Amino acid sequence: MENLSTGLFIKGSWLSKEKKFKVLNPADGSVLAEVSDADADDARQAITAASTALISWQKDSPQERARLLKLWSTEIRNNSKSLAELLTKEQGKVLSEAEGEILHSANLVDWAADEGQRIHGQTLASHDNSVRNFTIKNAVGVVAAITPWNFPAAAVLVKCASALAAGCTVVLKPSDETPLVSLAFAKLSKKAGIPEGCLNVVPCKDPKNVGDVLLSDPRVKLISFTGSTQVGKKIYATASGTMKRLSMELGGNAPYIVFDDADINLAVEQAIGARFYNSGQICVGANRFLVHQEISKQYIETLRSKVTELKVGDGFDDVNYGPLINQKAKDKLQRLIDDAVSKGAKIECGGESLGNSLFYKPTVISSVTHEMAISQEELFGPVVCIYEFENESEALSLANSTPSGLAAYVFSSSHKRLWDFAEHLEFGMIGANTSNIFSLDLAFAGVKESGMGREGGLGCLDDFLITKNFSLGMN
Ligand code: NAD
Repeated sequence: MENLSTGLFIKGSWLSKEKKFKVLNPADGSVLAEVSDADADDARQAITAASTALISWQKDSPQERARLLKLWSTEIRNNSKSLAELLTKEQGKVLSEAEGEILHSANLVDWAADEGQRIHGQTLASHDNSVRNFTIKNAVGVVAAITPWNFPAAAVLVKCASALAAGCTVVLKPSDETPLVSLAFAKLSKKAGIPEGCLNVVPCKDPKNVGDVLLSDPRVKLISFTGSTQVGKKIYATASGTMKRLSMELGGNAPYIVFDDADINLAVEQAIGARFYNSGQICVGANRFLVHQEISKQYIETLRSKVTELKVGDGFDDVNYGPLINQKAKDKLQRLIDDAVSKGAKIECGGESLGNSLFYKPTVISSVTHEMAISQEELFGPVVCIYEFENESEALSLANSTPSGLAAYVFSSSHKRLWDFAEHLEFGMIGANTSNIFSLDLAFAGVKESGMGREGGLGCLDDFLITKNFSLGMN
């Protein structure tokens, strides 16, 4: 793909603003681009463009929408190399993960396009013979999509593609850390022929500038948000002013339970992906390793020997994971680790960054307890925290002792135990003897304070559709 796009994308045109903000490469702090900084007026213009485009887009046939979405995914695949490189530059993840995320994102677009052709209502058995009753589905309307920095491609396309396939139009506010991939996707949407105004992108440095408009303008009917629970709660409160629908994918605090009858090598091998993928900056990342006390010594030893082999560095080099996203993230991680150590936790390896860089050493900490702050906050870093438990009921109660309810993992050779835990763990996504819980057919689905609604997978259009009753008089 040729030049970087750095303007606002509104009504199919690029708008360059005098006020700009810098996008940095977290691997070396270099400036990648200066991006136009949207303000409240830009947000209103984008909503106007989306409202106008909605009229004809929702009248288009689902097949026509699917055709255009598939042209878009083809453009994304054709440009996957340069998109992946851009993703590694602005987010820091290793190139192989970036390539995987771009291809997954193209698949998400195809999946949504196909689901869009299966929208259907119901014919009901009416209790009154003078009418026939039906339900019909309509697009919810203009959608505001607000997205995080850790998956700048997948988190954006899962929303935009589902919204567009359902007949909605979109105003997207990507994270200010990673707006470039979103802008590149917008450019490709135009090339694919998606009509002007259907997708608008308004990056901004201070999220409140655009956010306050998106959350209060009555023309926006749904807020599709992925980000922290803290910001999600603010959005929930503000969006209530105009009774917007909400679809929320929020933070996690995943337990990773290893029983004494588990295959230890498997539970170690799977832990690497569950904790070090994307430098540990992942909502479903294993935050709390709960290990049975009978095997904890052996587990820590085996895990430490694997973890110390991991290499951290620039995502373009031959490394296992890249930098943290910014200094604030590093400071938070260090604060949590220092607090845990001051209260009795033991650093088995790592525990600090490589000099002043954002590269954090692969870390294992043992003797962590639920009295430490680290047990209640998302680590978002390459750090394994090991807690011990004595029996099943203690493991379950420790696992559930968090307001979060996104992902949980459990390792045991007893199928009865795995099934019991699947039923009693208060989490929306559960991996048993695996940390591989991603699949195109499975929705992202947090419960408790990890979210509401389901994103992607079967039913990926549900949040973007309204159901209307239709009664036809037979007189
Ligand atoms: P964040 O909550 O800080 O920001 C998310 C988005 O909200 C960004 O675009 C930000 O600019 C915007 N925002 C912030 N304040 C706003 C406001 N007042 N009004 C409108 N928009 C506002 O999250 P982050 O640091 O970008 O991402 C990491 C978080 O996202 C973690 O908590 C992670 O667990 C979560 N996450 C969840 C999922 C999931 O599927 N459940 C997936 C990815 C990330």
